[in-house]
Amino acid sequence: MTPLTANTIGVAAGLSGPWLHARILVHTTPYGQQPRRHCPHCGLQLIPVGWRGLLTALPASASCPSCRTPLGPAGWLVETLAAAIAAILTWRAGSWPLLGAWLWVGLFGVALALVDVAVTRLPNALTGTTAFGALAALTAGTLAGASPAALLRAVLAAAGLAVFYLVLVLLPGTGLGAGDAKLAPAVGLCLGYRSLDAVVAATITGTLLAAAYVTVMLARHRIRRIDAVPTRRSCSSAPSPRS
Ligand SMILES: [Zn+2]
Repeated sequence: MTPLTANTIGVAAGLSGPWLHARILVHTTPYGQQPRRHCPHCGLQLIPVGWRGLLTALPASASCPSCRTPLGPAGWLVETLAAAIAAILTWRAGSWPLLGAWLWVGLFGVALALVDVAVTRLPNALTGTTAFGALAALTAGTLAGASPAALLRAVLAAAGLAVFYLVLVLLPGTGLGAGDAKLAPAVGLCLGYRSLDAVVAATITGTLLAAAYVTVMLARHRIRRIDAVPTRRSCSSAPSPRS
């Protein structure tokens, strides 16, 4: 894609920040609790129940319109991450079907990452939506004339990566949760559509980066060996299940 296309899509993705803020607010709840639809300070309902809630966006200030309490991460952080990730993905995507899947996974990935940082879990609703959206984009591209072999390779990569992470989840001491395995199909689809080499390279790179992060955090006594990651210094309670 051209730099103009990448920048245009990056700006458009940045404008989706208020909508992403709503997704983050809804799912930033501890394991086992219902999705959050109200301001945690004054109780004002911010996200309607049902399909209208899926379309709702929070104010650009990312704060409650009634009591001005900040709601989740800073607005600039979500918008900046969304814009930068979308621009980079657009720049590197070689086809429109793959770009559609990458953008879907990239934007939901921003929400997932910030929810994970806040409450150390990857909610099923977000991981499931991420995977099905990616599959829908790639399938639509195939129906429009793209290579069926690429879609088959993507599905096989998704299945393989899911099994790989499921094994890691079941192994003791890896620090991975079920949410990691549930996110794997979306990643496998996006990488497998490109090539199997991309799947292997990204998996190795991601594992090395995670290992480096944990090593540094352990060395600085910011986390304990029994903690799930990511975690924050303020999280002193026992680790919660990641789902
Ligand atoms: Zn409020």
